[in-house]
Amino acid sequence: MQNSSKSIEQVFREAYEIGLKAAPTGKVADYIPELAKADPNAFGICMLDAKGRSIALGSVETRFSIQSVGKVIILAAALEKLGFDETFSHVMMEPSGDSFNSILKLDTRDDRPFNPMINAGAIQTISLLSDKMSFGELLEFSRTLCGDPNISLDEKVYASEYQTGDRNRAIAYLLKSKGVMTADPERSVDLYFKMCSLAVNARSLAYLGLIIATGGVDPMTGRRLITEEHAETIRVIMFTCGMYDYSGKYSVRVGVPTKSGVGGGLCCAAKGPMGIGLYGPSLDNFGNSRGGVKAMEHISRELKLHMFDV
Ligand code: GLU
Repeated sequence: MQNSSKSIEQVFREAYEIGLKAAPTGKVADYIPELAKADPNAFGICMLDAKGRSIALGSVETRFSIQSVGKVIILAAALEKLGFDETFSHVMMEPSGDSFNSILKLDTRDDRPFNPMINAGAIQTISLLSDKMSFGELLEFSRTLCGDPNISLDEKVYASEYQTGDRNRAIAYLLKSKGVMTADPERSVDLYFKMCSLAVNARSLAYLGLIIATGGVDPMTGRRLITEEHAETIRVIMFTCGMYDYSGKYSVRVGVPTKSGVGGGLCCAAKGPMGIGLYGPSLDNFGNSRGGVKAMEHISRELKLHMFDV
């Protein structure tokens, strides 16, 4: 799989140095006040593979809020609970080309949100689950998928999301007015805020990436958590829609199914299979971890991880 004669450890070490150097050139998210408290210089990478190998560099244990990476878990829960057809009759699978919290196309193009990786799509998707799964069950599912029993709700981030979440409420009510959302909008956004506020670390995101990369089986326990078909769907949607308005360029340059969040996390489901979790709260203009993207460019190039590498 490797491009160069470098060892995988060396490639990750170089990527870590690249990410660490790039981190301070970005900007920590501040539109949710609690996020602004993150250390802009923090950076960490964790790699886990199906053979039990792991590499951990830098801020790998630091907890941060999962933010939009939680959309991957929401999609997995919906696919497993409701199935493919039911899920995608309420949300599309098209890249939107708009910012993550845009309301524009929802009112002008189609009643259904474009995809489950933007706010409208995730809020619609979680609304489908809102009378089938409690937050406690979603939290348990998140802990299992991330191989991390210590994931908990960051109450301060949740309070901050709740107080500043009017745009997300507007999205939910617009979906209700169109008859797309049939569940209670307040309950749906509340679940969404909670799923954005889960405190994870780079290791949890690497584990999540590994399970998606393996096709849905937890390699440590052998337990199937997501069907193979659903895991493939999730990988494709991460690939096409996972990096905000940078998704197209990221897919060309890196080519690894990845989801980012404004908390600074990246979850990558790579060939190998390999899960890579990155943490760097300084973001680029698109809302992606600046150091994380730079590090992934290096890792993908050196290890030939691009999906379309021949
Ligand atoms: N909680 C954030 C919001 O809905 C998620 C942002 C993100 O990571 O994209 O605004």
